[in-house]
Amino acid sequence: YSPIHVIGGGLAGSEAAWQIANAGVPVVLHEMRGVRGTDAHKTDGLAELVCSNSFRSDDATSNAVGVIHAEMRMAGSLIMACADKHQVPAGGALAVDRDGFSEAVTEAIHNHPSITVVREEVEGLPPKEWDLAIVATGPLTAPSLASAIQAETGADALAFFDAIAPIVYRDSIDMDICWYQSRYDKVGPGGTGKDYINCPLNEEQYNAFVDALIAGDTVGFKEWEGTPYFDGCLPIEVMAERGRETLRHGPMKPMGLTNAHNPTVKAYAVVQLRQDNALGSLYNMVGFQTKLKYGAQADIFRMIPGLANAEFARLGGLHRNTYINSPTLLDSSLTLKSRPGLRFAGQITGCEGYVESASVGLLAGRFAAAERRGEAVSLPPATTALGSLLGHITGGHLVTDEEPGKRSFQPMNINFGLFPELEPGSIVKPEGVKRFRGKDKTIMKRQLIAKRALSACAEWLGQPLPLPETAA
Ligand code: FAD
Repeated sequence: YSPIHVIGGGLAGSEAAWQIANAGVPVVLHEMRGVRGTDAHKTDGLAELVCSNSFRSDDATSNAVGVIHAEMRMAGSLIMACADKHQVPAGGALAVDRDGFSEAVTEAIHNHPSITVVREEVEGLPPKEWDLAIVATGPLTAPSLASAIQAETGADALAFFDAIAPIVYRDSIDMDICWYQSRYDKVGPGGTGKDYINCPLNEEQYNAFVDALIAGDTVGFKEWEGTPYFDGCLPIEVMAERGRETLRHGPMKPMGLTNAHNPTVKAYAVVQLRQDNALGSLYNMVGFQTKLKYGAQADIFRMIPGLANAEFARLGGLHRNTYINSPTLLDSSLTLKSRPGLRFAGQITGCEGYVESASVGLLAGRFAAAERRGEAVSLPPATTALGSLLGHITGGHLVTDEEPGKRSFQPMNINFGLFPELEPGSIVKPEGVKRFRGKDKTIMKRQLIAKRALSACAEWLGQPLPLPETAA
């Protein structure tokens, strides 16, 4: 076979190269570090972890990240094998010795007879001779390649910052306090006039909330990130600082909304949440992008009536990040629709996190290798963690009434909200249990989704189901 070219030797690119080589296809891995650095990497090692040394929860029985770990292990992931080998104690999390981990990945890639590593910056889209290629250049893609991607995909299709509003699990919102309604009952394309979940605040609650936002601890921008504030995308706490009434006239305006539980009393302010995934299991807090620290966010946002017990699928943020509008640009096997043979992988596709980036690299590598071998590309089932994340990236485009056809696609970690719902009737009160509450149901739901994912993944890979070591 002629080689597949992988650009970027980070988490995604290293995993993609490994998967391709192990499918019997040669790989050329192009990594610029050694010739040109990035603002966050400190070494020339492959798969360097730029910040935390944690791969997050390793619990494959009831945590979505743990499930994707287990699926990646089943699929022969190099990143997971090296992480397991260089694990350091971290409770239920999988944390690694960052240098030992990166050195192990670098060594495995260099020693693989089918992989050639070239230290160079790829300055544009792959030349036509590289008929099969994967771009895995990450959140800090070098500028000349980023410009080339932008020229190919369109100016609006490549983002350089993510402005993420917190995302809440729908079933953790108290609907005895909140109600469904679109502002002025407006019915947009595909809408019903009841597309938003609304949380009402009275004057006292609003003032306490504004005070908490102003007092909350924030994370500063790194010097090289710049300060990407532009109108319409200010962090919520910056808006609060601009004046006590700013939020009430901005994202928290109460106009055109009537509290279904208390129609005669006008809310002083309203927080709106908008459906975030096609399944309707996740809702994002409209206009709540923020630089507040994670702990502060959870505490402050739970002050909002109806969100006292909110579970967050992800918290808000505002970061330097390069990612494409994958749902419109990529097909289901991560290929750029305008350029057959060119795939994207890792954080640049709109996943978020080390593990997620590596997992998308794993998929892109397998898909590209199958294409080179003339085999059918086999997509992971939607019920797996890999399939759910792939579904978010390639098909998660949700059109809302406010922004027809233009909903901005935001990066996402793997979480249970991305998995398809269970069959109705799957959650049954265990025998002998007297009180089976909301939290018990949520735990059981997650366990069932995790179990379903692992057996679907084993079937997809044609393997008997191994018991994840961490299952206990
Ligand atoms: P990377 O691991 O960044 O790999 C991309 C590679 O491509 C790099 O080695 C780069 O040198 C190379 N490259 C870029 N352009 C070119 C080019 N033109 N030619 C050749 N090579 C090129 N995630 C977490 O889970 N936990 C964290 O704590 C965390 N902290 C982060 C902190 C920062 C500052 C940033 C920016 C991101 C962080 N992330 C974190 C998010 C993300 O998971 C990581 O960035 C992850 O490394 C992404 O994997 P990747 O393979 O897509 O990109």
